[in-house]
Amino acid sequence: MQFKYCLGVISLCSALFLVGCNDDNSSDSQTPTVQEQKQKLQPIIIQGALPVESAHMAAKLQNVTVETIGKSWTFWKGTYNGYPVIISKTRMGMSNSAAATALAIERYKPIAIINQGTAGGHDPDLHVYDIVLGKYATNIGAFRTPKQPVGAGSDSLTWVEAFDVLPIDESDPEPIAIRKFEGDQELLMAAHKVRYDKGEVVEGTIGSADVWNNELDRIQFFHQRYDTSVEEMEAASVAQIASQFNIPFLGIRILSNNITNNGAYDPGTGEACQEYVLNVAEEYMKSKLPK
Ligand code: SAH
Repeated sequence: MQFKYCLGVISLCSALFLVGCNDDNSSDSQTPTVQEQKQKLQPIIIQGALPVESAHMAAKLQNVTVETIGKSWTFWKGTYNGYPVIISKTRMGMSNSAAATALAIERYKPIAIINQGTAGGHDPDLHVYDIVLGKYATNIGAFRTPKQPVGAGSDSLTWVEAFDVLPIDESDPEPIAIRKFEGDQELLMAAHKVRYDKGEVVEGTIGSADVWNNELDRIQFFHQRYDTSVEEMEAASVAQIASQFNIPFLGIRILSNNITNNGAYDPGTGEACQEYVLNVAEEYMKSKLPK
């Protein structure tokens, strides 16, 4: 009697188990495939200022449509290994990169933005082909200079007051502070997962301004005072705009030159950085798929 009862319970359990399995199977047909989940993600935007910093990535997209805003802010919209990716050629400098960023955020609602490309070394320990992940990006072109009379000359090494162009206290007309925009932690984590064999990958500070510094004393000034690893002309501007819209942002810069250690300009660096950054974008997008 007891044995029969036991068998009864066992068969009831297995029947329930099978029903459970069937349930799973039937909902499977409605579960989106990985491919569909990838397509549902908002696009990641990867920026490069020049053709040598963007064309390689654009050529690697599938299903591409091209949109140009203004005369030459070009966006290649497509997929990379199934993930929605937009390559943006911003043109050079702080204004172009800010405009391309604001337009892209409004138009494409990106999940994140990576600004990447070439840069000049400020840190003598970094070499051409090394990559700096921008734990911070900072404007190195905004100052309040000391007052000097006519004829007293000008010495940029005395410009020790950085001007914060995005102060928290908007009522302060002359906000003096070095403002650093933090790189997004999840983008940083994705970047650390990607293999790169052409140089070192380090975290550091990217300094940006519409200036190409070739004075070694001035470069050392930035390295010591702002802790800059590299300089270029876009990342801090993009970081500033992205912060206004709460879009995750990371600057990723390869050293194409480093005059602090005689690192001569190498044009191959532009492509090496693009290759690395495409992998970072894919790693980040993968982490955004539903678990
Ligand atoms: N193809 C050259 C020159 C680029 S022109 C090179 O890669 O070195 C300037 C552009 O390159 C800017 O968009 C800027 O972001 C970047 N750049 C590279 N090295 C730089 C440096 N030492 N100073 C300032 N910008 C630099």
